[in-house]
Amino acid sequence: MPSEALLQVTELTAHYGPIQALHGISLEVKPGELVAMVGANGAGKTTLLHTLSNVHKASGGSVIFDGQEITRTAPHKIVQAGICHIPEGRQVFAPLSVEDNLLLGSFTRRKEKAWVAEELERIYQLFPILQEKRRQAAGTLSGGQQQMLAMGRALLGRPKLLLLDEPSMGLAPLLVAEIFRVVRELNEQGVTILLVEQNAKAALGIADRGYVLETGRVVLSAAADELLADEAVQKAYLGH
Ligand code: ATP
Repeated sequence: MPSEALLQVTELTAHYGPIQALHGISLEVKPGELVAMVGANGAGKTTLLHTLSNVHKASGGSVIFDGQEITRTAPHKIVQAGICHIPEGRQVFAPLSVEDNLLLGSFTRRKEKAWVAEELERIYQLFPILQEKRRQAAGTLSGGQQQMLAMGRALLGRPKLLLLDEPSMGLAPLLVAEIFRVVRELNEQGVTILLVEQNAKAALGIADRGYVLETGRVVLSAAADELLADEAVQKAYLGH
């Protein structure tokens, strides 16, 4: 195993009953990297992230995180180990205020008042709009603002690795650009990120490296700018 990887996935398989959704996925994410996994609807992107978090059980292969095998580790222990998964659809708690939604991310240390205040301050600096709307119900935020809230909540736990599932889903183009700018900024601040996306152009536009997933298999992997310039990728995913 190349010891420098933060996340090392080897020959990972997953099934839904008799249907095989992942056919031996291997990938790695090094500390500090922003890696994009792009693929069409149904390629297996969401299943991959669910399997990494062990919300969906792997049927074979291995996941090593920070030197520890976590393939069969309970999901809450995976969170404690430092992996934070932001699912598709964001899942903020609509009736709760923005600040209360953020505080849900601090559950393991919520009694440490000074720490919580400092973390909130850090998140508000990253996302000023959340500070502005901190007393508003989360359900009143726009889709892009809810995505920022989901990211802010995840960051409160200071994860070592962020798994981000389709943050651009359902957002207008201007907001997509804003969300990807924020994802890039988080990475520049030192958060390691595995981003899965159907929007290949935007994802590869901010990533260091990328993988292309087709029907549960990695069919290409390269530096993100090489994938953006690749003719087959352009035809299949970039609308050229
Ligand atoms: P999307 O962008 O639509 O979320 P995806 O790339 O994330 O697509 P997955 O949702 O991981 O793809 O689906 C991968 C494959 O597994 C698809 O063929 C899908 O039909 C199948 N699948 C997903 N969830 C289930 C399920 N609960 N039961 C049976 N098959 C499923």
